Amino acid sequence: MINKVDYQRIATEEAFITKDVLDGYMRLLQDSSFDDPGFRSLWGYFGTHQSPRARAINEALQSLGDLRLGHMDAAGIDHQVIGLTAPGVQVFDPATASSLAVDANDQLAEACRKHPTRYTGMAAVAPHDPINAPKEMERAVKKLGFRAVIINSHTLGHYLDEPQFAPVLEAAEALDVPIYLHPQTAPPSMIKPFVEAGLEGAIYGFACETGLHMLRVIVGGVFDRFPKLQFIIGHTGEALPYWLYRIEFMHGAAVRAQRYESMKPLKHPVGHYLRNNVYITSSGVAWQPAIEFCQKIIGVDRVMYAMDYPYQHVPEEVGFCDAMTIPDADKRAFFEGVARKVFKLNF
Ligand code: CA
Repeated sequence: MINKVDYQRIATEEAFITKDVLDGYMRLLQDSSFDDPGFRSLWGYFGTHQSPRARAINEALQSLGDLRLGHMDAAGIDHQVIGLTAPGVQVFDPATASSLAVDANDQLAEACRKHPTRYTGMAAVAPHDPINAPKEMERAVKKLGFRAVIINSHTLGHYLDEPQFAPVLEAAEALDVPIYLHPQTAPPSMIKPFVEAGLEGAIYGFACETGLHMLRVIVGGVFDRFPKLQFIIGHTGEALPYWLYRIEFMHGAAVRAQRYESMKPLKHPVGHYLRNNVYITSSGVAWQPAIEFCQKIIGVDRVMYAMDYPYQHVPEEVGFCDAMTIPDADKRAFFEGVARKVFKLNF
């Protein structure tokens, strides 16, 4: 029983995986020299665990056909914006990563060509291959018709505010496509206390690490250098809107005191960048208070729906969002209008 509504439901942070990337993950799990507890926890579970949940997600990730379309129909999802699942190709050496990204993009593009009204692609990219990454981004956007780039947070412990990633940021700005900054598990330098308590994944660790990454990009001055660049973050903004008041206060105080060599003055307060360079999706948070709060803080024109398929494929949650007691126009923007604008959808 799907509600009849006068908007299309566009889900904007939906995941898939290719066989080759999955095989690559399985090889890394068997390589005892690959010392990444977060990766081992994440893909040890979704790659090899025999629980019904892990098996169902593994199967759905590999489908760009009838299984996925059936799940979308059953939940009332008209359209998915799809990206290669975390950590994408970013755990492989640069050459392997780039070639796996090309193949993943080709496979996703093929599915988008087959189902143009159902799927839109986000490009996988190897940020640690700064010669090939911008070329692949250009191919993915101009030849394959992709409308965003997905980067699964840090790349082997490195963050997008670091200078070696400038070519990737420059290419995204020049191609006029947003970067979806999707979570992955924290790097070994950060993860120990999370893993000890079972908190390193989507429950909490993802938000800490990706929120940190987004904030590094902002306070590192990336948007002063690339003012037209747009990022998208999920999970109702990885908690940043909720903390914004204190972030702005403490950022201002630290800059005035010249406390940190790395923390230079910005052209604008932190909130300005959230409101002008960042979009937020509701992935995994079918909860009116959080969604409405994001709309209030960064604007109705910057918040959009996502399910987080197949990790949080809960059809009832679509109904929770349909039932939000917000103005009709805001709900249409949330489910359809903002995504159409951000991803330049024309189906
Ligand atoms: Ca996700």
